[in-house]
Amino acid sequence: MTVSVTGATGFIGTRLVQRLHADNHKVCVLTRSKSKAETIFPVKNFPGIVIAEEAGWKDCIEGSNAVVNLAGMPISTRWSPEIKKEIKESRIRVTSKVVDLINSSPQGVRPTVLVSATAVGYYGTSETRVFDENSPSGNDYLAEVCREWEGTALKVDKDVRLALIRIGVVLGKDGGALAKMIPLFMMFAGGPLGSGQQWFSWIHLDDIVNLIYEALSNPSYKGVINGTAPNPVRLSEMCNQLGNVLGRPSWLPVPDFALKAVLGEGASVVLEGQKVVPAKAKELGFPFKYPYVKDALKSILS
Ligand code: NDP
Repeated sequence: MTVSVTGATGFIGTRLVQRLHADNHKVCVLTRSKSKAETIFPVKNFPGIVIAEEAGWKDCIEGSNAVVNLAGMPISTRWSPEIKKEIKESRIRVTSKVVDLINSSPQGVRPTVLVSATAVGYYGTSETRVFDENSPSGNDYLAEVCREWEGTALKVDKDVRLALIRIGVVLGKDGGALAKMIPLFMMFAGGPLGSGQQWFSWIHLDDIVNLIYEALSNPSYKGVINGTAPNPVRLSEMCNQLGNVLGRPSWLPVPDFALKAVLGEGASVVLEGQKVVPAKAKELGFPFKYPYVKDALKSILS
């Protein structure tokens, strides 16, 4: 299979490309920066990989069986009005370009699958409700971003199978929220973040990569699929487990201001969570490698 990937140089994309390449699929990395992508995927380790800046995206997409769309400006920054605009527009711009290129590809060479990222922020935040794929959208800024992002992907022609993956907080060693949280956590000895009652809908990096990978080839994977582990936890539980795995006591609360200093307003993703369950993935029989946060953290940090 030939797969074009936007956001391939990011935290999730890098691991996905490594996996696709290891399994002998042909990969086109669709990037804004060829030189950055060449550092991440040097040709000696990734023979045959194609790296294309925007002018080359058309040829890549036309020759692909599938497209994975992960690009977007990181949200864990300070949110000035300009940055908020770019957080939304970067996702809509790239998704729109990908969808236009797929729709205008000649029949016979056009991709038949689009796996497009979105986020659990779609549901808004709550300490009491449980959200599955049929739950309505929330009414905060991130919910609005996700609705518009998904709405853009939904413009892909109906003969292209679309899987929209609403991704939770991805836990992995070399990036994402965990890499930013750990130093802070160590500094404050590792108690709960904020009140600790917020829900934390997480997923291990291996599982989100496997879910996207499965969605590429399995025709049952279509529509919205929550990309979260089956056992979300309250943040206090997450911090307890993190303390145990790191061998730190877990008693002094990490203050909101410290987290906001590191994550900016993007800290809201951690400080105001939502309990999201992967109803569709479970129905599809997706084999989660890490259903419990304790095992996920052990695998990442030990
Ligand atoms: P990263 O931030 O690690 O990577 C995203 C990629 O998007 C970058 O490598 C970059 O690729 C591209 N990008 C960055 N800024 C812009 C911009 N302004 N305009 C266009 N493209 C840009 O993301 P992740 O791998 O962590 O996540 C992938 C997707 O999944 C993202 O859209 C994210 O919102 C979503 N998601 C991730 C979660 C997580 O916990 N990691 C949780 C929920 C959703 P290049 O420079 O090569 O163009």
